[in-house]
Amino acid sequence: MTCRPPAESEESPTVTHPFLDLPPLTAAHFAAIERRVAALLATEEDVVITQGEALLPLEGCIRSGARPGSTALNVVTGPYGQTFGNWLRDCGAEVVDLTVPFHTAVTAGQVAEALAEHPAIDFVSLVHAEAATGNTNPVAEIGEVVRAHGALFMLDAVASVGAEPLLPDAWGVDLCVIGAQKAMGGPAGVSAVSVSARAWERIAANPAAPRRSYLSLLDWKERWIDGGRKALPHAPAQLEMLGLEACLERIEEDGLDTVTARHASAAAATRVGAVALGGGLEPYVLQARDAAPVATTLRAPAGTDASALVARALEPAPSLPLIAGGGALSKDMIRVNHYGADATRDAVLSSLAALGAALGDAGRRVDFEAARRAVAETWPGL
Ligand SMILES: *Cc1c(COP(=O)(O)O)cnc(C)c1O
Repeated sequence: MTCRPPAESEESPTVTHPFLDLPPLTAAHFAAIERRVAALLATEEDVVITQGEALLPLEGCIRSGARPGSTALNVVTGPYGQTFGNWLRDCGAEVVDLTVPFHTAVTAGQVAEALAEHPAIDFVSLVHAEAATGNTNPVAEIGEVVRAHGALFMLDAVASVGAEPLLPDAWGVDLCVIGAQKAMGGPAGVSAVSVSARAWERIAANPAAPRRSYLSLLDWKERWIDGGRKALPHAPAQLEMLGLEACLERIEEDGLDTVTARHASAAAATRVGAVALGGGLEPYVLQARDAAPVATTLRAPAGTDASALVARALEPAPSLPLIAGGGALSKDMIRVNHYGADATRDAVLSSLAALGAALGDAGRRVDFEAARRAVAETWPGL
């Protein structure tokens, strides 16, 4: 900032830019965006917008809720659950890992059994939908058994928000973390968490909960929420906030039900389309009801390598939403990330066509016409 009036030649930058020279975001504007996130989640609880990718509030929630002496049930249905277990152990909590194979979902019965076996459990972490493995878990039923037990319930809903129904209050979720970068079609650098009154009590009573820290939820409560949302504790990331506001606006305009229906259709169409395509391609998640609307995972045919197939498929069309599974899954798993702007019939058909071509090159017999018909029947439209 200059303190004196600029000289004539310094008056304004020569080129204006849509990302630059933005005025600071006001507290009122920030609070209004928070209210829109609360409406998206149909929550009456506090919403804290966190200015970083969703791993920031996820780590913040775990370090706020867990402490030495806690016993945590960590449900592992994909790679994010593994990360949560490591943070929980790092907080000094006793961790009970409930791991289910990535081709399925956890059941409320399995959670109830683990809770009965370990009555000391006071914290439960669960991922709703796993974009990385393509499965989704029955949160409403699981919430009921967690609430009956009395544990604090944290949900990673980054990959489910906008892709399928998400009702933290109705489901008894105490800490519900979302990110804008998947089905919401927004920026990756901003995220949010809804915090129940129960969760605030637990966090305030935890001497190990982060305070005066970027990971601290309590700081936001004390310095922003309890003060009536009048003054922001630090400069808001205005680009990300404006991006978040824009994607919320678009979801409101289209209607949340329409957006989730589009993701459900994309997943159903990809699933039947891949089977009809043939060549040995199979849905990775065995039961359709366990398959996440946000992304569909496919098992590469025996004798092929998923990452090589995806690389071949992307050669002529690098912008298709195809990627091989991460780490050990890179040999077997193909992911179709039909979320956000890619939750379209076009993206699904082009992805299947590209995979079909790659399989054809690998000497497999595929039938793209059958895949096209299956997609059209499953997702009828224009
Ligand atoms: C995408 C995603 C996140 C965010 O992590 P990134 O790897 O940074 O995209 C967190 N949790 C789940 C379940 C996700 O799918």
